[in-house]
Amino acid sequence: MSHYKTILVAVDLTAEAHKVAKRALTLAQESSGSLHVVHVIEPSSYVYGADGMVAYPDVEMEREKQALSQLKKFSAHYDIPQTRLHLENGKAADAIHELAAKLKADLVVVGSHGRSGIALLLGSTANSVLHGSKCDVLAVRVGKE
Ligand code: AMP
Repeated sequence: MSHYKTILVAVDLTAEAHKVAKRALTLAQESSGSLHVVHVIEPSSYVYGADGMVAYPDVEMEREKQALSQLKKFSAHYDIPQTRLHLENGKAADAIHELAAKLKADLVVVGSHGRSGIALLLGSTANSVLHGSKCDVLAVRVGKE
């Protein structure tokens, strides 16, 4: 039986994210812990002007609206209260670290594609989350079996 009390699962809202969420939910149920879900809206270069300010605020707002609606739809499959859904902005790994610290999470669950070759050298969100993490990280294998 796991001992995790606060689990944070990071979802990219792809079809693969369900496998990651299911694993996190099982762990949370086994330890009677609480499960939080985070999705990070990463900066898209065209939205920003040369000065680093948001050049198209309407586009940015629409992205946020759509991401929130997708996150709610995704999490509805798992009966997770809306107070435990988090939509963050920034670089995915950094935002996940910050939120994990804020929630005092003792486990972060991410998906991992188990890349090799050049893709491995380029790195992945799972790697970045693992390297800066102050708590345990579970990488759930996703993608090709
Ligand atoms: P990747 O770098 O595409 O291999 O990402 C693997 C895992 O990182 C995903 O399964 C998620 O757990 C997490 N992840 C990637 N992008 C995001 C995002 N925008 N928001 C939240 N989690 C993410």
